[in-house]
Amino acid sequence: MDQLRYDGRVAVVTGAGGGLGKAYALLLASRGAKVVVNDLGSARDGSGKSNFADAVVKEIKDKGGVAVADYNSVVEGEKIIKTAIDNFGRIDILINNAGILRDKSFLKLPEQDWDLIQAVHLKGAYKTTHAAWDYFRKQKYGRVIMTASNAGIYGNFGQSNYSAAKMGLVGFANTLALEGDKYNIKVNTIVPTAASRLTEDILPPEMFQAMKPELIAPVVAYMVHESFEDNGAVIDSTLGYANKLHYVRSLGTPLKKKPSDPVTIESVKQFWPQVVDMKNAKHFEKIAEVSIDLAQKLQEFEDRA
Ligand code: NAD
Repeated sequence: MDQLRYDGRVAVVTGAGGGLGKAYALLLASRGAKVVVNDLGSARDGSGKSNFADAVVKEIKDKGGVAVADYNSVVEGEKIIKTAIDNFGRIDILINNAGILRDKSFLKLPEQDWDLIQAVHLKGAYKTTHAAWDYFRKQKYGRVIMTASNAGIYGNFGQSNYSAAKMGLVGFANTLALEGDKYNIKVNTIVPTAASRLTEDILPPEMFQAMKPELIAPVVAYMVHESFEDNGAVIDSTLGYANKLHYVRSLGTPLKKKPSDPVTIESVKQFWPQVVDMKNAKHFEKIAEVSIDLAQKLQEFEDRA
């Protein structure tokens, strides 16, 4: 297969001073993209500030690539997009990757730890994407990545704030995928699991060694390539594997025997096993398909009566 390249494309990677973002920035730059290496340079809990991005920019330039450092917080995402425009005149690819943790069991979770996590993950992705959106629309081209987490998809003890933000990003991507489609803006989500400072005390040591961010970078790079047509996909990747995730909906059931019967708490209890029976569960791509399915089922029920 011909090498997939990004010549002429400008990519912003947030939180690219280390971990996954660094791997994404290095790979895209090695394939011709001009890269804004954004990183606030905070500690894992979001405190402090330093110039992590400089070392990544140096590494890219030493290898003959083109990159510029940006030290803004994603909370001021418009400044990061401005760095792309001021330095390279355009923006084509936005990888929303910056992230922090403030883990505590829910009872002990202070409001500021809730707010900070939502601000960095969810509002940060909103700010960068909103600032880039008009450029994408006008040029009829954009590739956006949101970064979710298995902590959001399945839940994880002590991460209620983080789980909420990460699943918020999936909902955000779902709607942007619809709104961007006719402008050739594709918005997809990565669910990574990789060795980084976020996971060094969470993953078992043997797994930590194997879970290199460089194994996920090609997945994300493909998902922001111009040939990538999927939109609104949620892709889970680790250890050189990738899987697609999506919701399924059970067949469901009317909550009464005859159309004229009332729906009561007792009838709900009676039909509950069918409500939650996932045997013939189906996936729906669009909200309209869910409404059509419901209308058809109601009609069948009325006809049977
Ligand atoms: P990391 O700590 O190595 O990288 C995150 C980077 O984001 C850091 O360099 C940090 O300085 C930067 N950052 C933090 N707050 C910022 C802000 N306000 N503005 C700009 N930059 C900021 O961690 P990582 O594991 O590479 O995480 C990357 C992303 O992947 C995060 O969104 C994380 O939640 C997500 N994620 C990681 C894993 C994993 O297994 N490593 C699993 C699920 C999700």
